[in-house]
Amino acid sequence: MTKWVYTFGDGAAEGRAGDRNLLGGKGANLAEMCSLGLPVPPGFTITTEVCNAYYANARCYPASLEADVAVALDHIGRLTGRRFGDPSKLLLVSVRSGARASMPGMMDTVLNLGLNDETVEALAADSGDARFAYDSYRRFIQMYSDVVMGLDHEVFEEILEDQKGGLGHELDTELTAIEWQSVIALYKAKVEEELGKPFPQDPHEQLWGAISAVFSSWMNNRAITYRRLHDIPESWGTAVNVQAMVFGNMGDTSATGVAFTRNPSTGEKMLYGEFLVNAQGEDVVAGIRTPQNITEAARIAAGSDKPSLQKLMPDAFQSFVTISDNLEKHYRDMQDLEFTIERGKLWMLQTRSGKRTAKAALKIAVEMARDKLISKEEAVARIDPASLDQLLHPTIDPKAARDVIGVGLPASPGAATGEIVFSSNDAEEAKAQGRKAILVRIETSPEDIHGMHAAEGILTTRGGMTSHAAVVARGMGKPCVSGAGSLRVDYRAGTLMAMGSTFRKGDTITIDGANGQVLKGAVPMLQPELSGDFAAIMEWADAARRMKVRTNAETPLDARMARSFGAEGIGLCRTEHMFFDGDRIVAMREMILADTEKDRRTALAKLLPMQRSDFLELFEIMAGLPVTIRLLDPPLHEFLPKTEEEVAEVAAAMKVSPDKLRQRTEALHEFNPMLGHRGCRLAVSYPEIAEMQARAIFEAAVEAGRKAGALVVPEIMVPLVGLVKELDYVKARIDAVARSVMEETGVKITYLTGTMIELPRAAIRAHVIAEAAEFFSFGTNDLTQTTFGISRDDAASFLETYRQKGIIEQDPFVSLDIEGVGELVRMAAEKGRATRPDIKLGICGEHGGDPSSIHFCEKVGLDYVSCSPYRVPIARLAAAQAAVQVAKLGRG
Ligand code: PEP
Ligand code: MG
Repeated sequence: MTKWVYTFGDGAAEGRAGDRNLLGGKGANLAEMCSLGLPVPPGFTITTEVCNAYYANARCYPASLEADVAVALDHIGRLTGRRFGDPSKLLLVSVRSGARASMPGMMDTVLNLGLNDETVEALAADSGDARFAYDSYRRFIQMYSDVVMGLDHEVFEEILEDQKGGLGHELDTELTAIEWQSVIALYKAKVEEELGKPFPQDPHEQLWGAISAVFSSWMNNRAITYRRLHDIPESWGTAVNVQAMVFGNMGDTSATGVAFTRNPSTGEKMLYGEFLVNAQGEDVVAGIRTPQNITEAARIAAGSDKPSLQKLMPDAFQSFVTISDNLEKHYRDMQDLEFTIERGKLWMLQTRSGKRTAKAALKIAVEMARDKLISKEEAVARIDPASLDQLLHPTIDPKAARDVIGVGLPASPGAATGEIVFSSNDAEEAKAQGRKAILVRIETSPEDIHGMHAAEGILTTRGGMTSHAAVVARGMGKPCVSGAGSLRVDYRAGTLMAMGSTFRKGDTITIDGANGQVLKGAVPMLQPELSGDFAAIMEWADAARRMKVRTNAETPLDARMARSFGAEGIGLCRTEHMFFDGDRIVAMREMILADTEKDRRTALAKLLPMQRSDFLELFEIMAGLPVTIRLLDPPLHEFLPKTEEEVAEVAAAMKVSPDKLRQRTEALHEFNPMLGHRGCRLAVSYPEIAEMQARAIFEAAVEAGRKAGALVVPEIMVPLVGLVKELDYVKARIDAVARSVMEETGVKITYLTGTMIELPRAAIRAHVIAEAAEFFSFGTNDLTQTTFGISRDDAASFLETYRQKGIIEQDPFVSLDIEGVGELVRMAAEKGRATRPDIKLGICGEHGGDPSSIHFCEKVGLDYVSCSPYRVPIARLAAAQAAVQVAKLGRG
């Protein structure tokens, strides 16, 4: 018989931390904490398998579940000396979701379940605090009606605000028991009025309503969006955790809070968190009241005048410190904790690995490895390569003038400039139109995920460091300033009031996630400095890595940047990109548009010295590291003059009439330029182009070698080869130029000639092509385009639809299609090696900087990956992780 329900409590549990697939993260860790003897309210977990069965079976539960839940409720009752549904031995429970991967705020929670008109009085008598009892009941009605019955919580907020106004109260805590009773009466009347049925009084009906609501929340829109954004499969399902209630709102000796065992923004080793006195869990994350610091040190650093937990409840604080230390050691990772203090007694409600910024992740991994809590290899494995992007974000230039219009909390690092938008839809729209936006909200909610993704940064006027905006932005690596309380947002008027000025939608602001400042206008930014922890992880990664990491770069700026990020050579220098600027594009257009060889040679003669000096500089920057230079591969449409001005400029340079030039442009027009006269086809038609480039390369190599006193070995790459004869033809021209330059200079030149494998035919005929090619570089951009028959330039319009409809999981231009395009890569690598065992193999398509594609490259045994400069550190780390995994699990 399948076991659907797992109990825990009082130092024992049926599950353990390793059962997270079955019990979800929360359930597995509650079980583990119980087994460790920590104070956890007793409870039980309904497994993720029930969730799957529920959906597979038209939302019906497995037959034995009801009986299993009844037994588990008895288990809680035994441990607490209470009985669910029995007013004389009142037992209240919480019902919470908990999937395998943490999905903060995505799904639903119900607290204080089991309260009704009768049991609320028992709670009042039991606790000796009627005010607390009625406050709990009204919270329950509010939460339950929202989560289970679908009645928006704002309906209740309005009633409460009205009542508070009438009674002259500002805070919820000021309401008396009698006043809460009248609020409850109004709430219940509202439920009946809106839903046509009374608020359910039967605790069992309430419980099953809540369980079903949690399972149903797995398929709500925000959970679906969250899963899509985080690649979480639907098949994982969620578990449901039912636990005996403990109350943080039982007066001033009670509290509730959240904490991290280390600072999640900086990684600093110190307990870091927030709490509220006389409050229930959701109050802290909701950001409605401003929370207090847990430690004195944090309170002083924040300049807060509200007492810390350390000061206010020293005993509970001390227990909490001990438990958090132990949990961190036990899990060997920074923990994110939730706790409640009920009348001085500490209860642990959750532990899980804490989400953290990339900077914090580095610091924590490095310190834990240095403290021998984890190995260096583990430290390397723990850093998400893609998250390094966060470290490479710009920051505000310290010399820049700052026009500060407000200050909030530094919730997520990095600085961002953009125009103000007040809604997530507007953020998305701005992004779609290529504009940068800052999403400005009073507070964010899970419905805002798409807008947060689309925005450059997020600014909220309410909420702490653990508010939704802060947690989610950190996870996304977006700059965020939260809780900027001096700013006033008016959604209806579409304004942001700051320091007496009014900003409107579309006005530009900058946020600084490092110090919480909000600045007027755009502000100059600086490129990031990489920390010592970054260098340590990179060093450990480099020690574990097999593949080399090169860069795709053609400008000295990019090449230098890539070197500073650790690039070990250039894997792709796209020579056509060297002609986009200034006068060069005119000379390049002249060359492309020439209709006689003579005219072309005239234009080429202008390009030669530019090329030579560019190559010389690249060789010098790369100082002996390999440099692969690709012969011209210009999709013609990118270079043809488009405007009348451009036509006139090129016509003057060529000394022909604009009309004649226009005719030539028309003659060169291609319907499908990506599949047109590009790559080696151009060199076959006009070998003088390849000759000029080969000469520039060789002359630069000779000079660089002479200057450095060391041999420079250029790698010349012929693009878009499909037939070996194309390569033979171009290679013969290259070899001839090499001989000439050697004769002219008297210097022996060593060089390699290779090709890109970017057409399926090249992959299929790789064994033959390898007879002429000394290296292959997989051009997976074109190989993806030609394997799928999907245009690189037009794919975006429908690939997103494909993704949404589940036809593809990821854009194959971003992450290599391993089953299809990958199969061609694997085959070509094998065939190439069969012909030429020492053939050098690399990848230079965009996939060379994508972690999962890099993993595949390791499996195939490529020698190097090449990617854009900013992705070099990502590739170094991903290549190390791949090497460790492949060494462990093999290439299969
Ligand atoms: C490729 O096709 O993968 C490649 C690197 O070349 P380009 O993107 O310049 O066509
Ligand atoms: Mg290509």
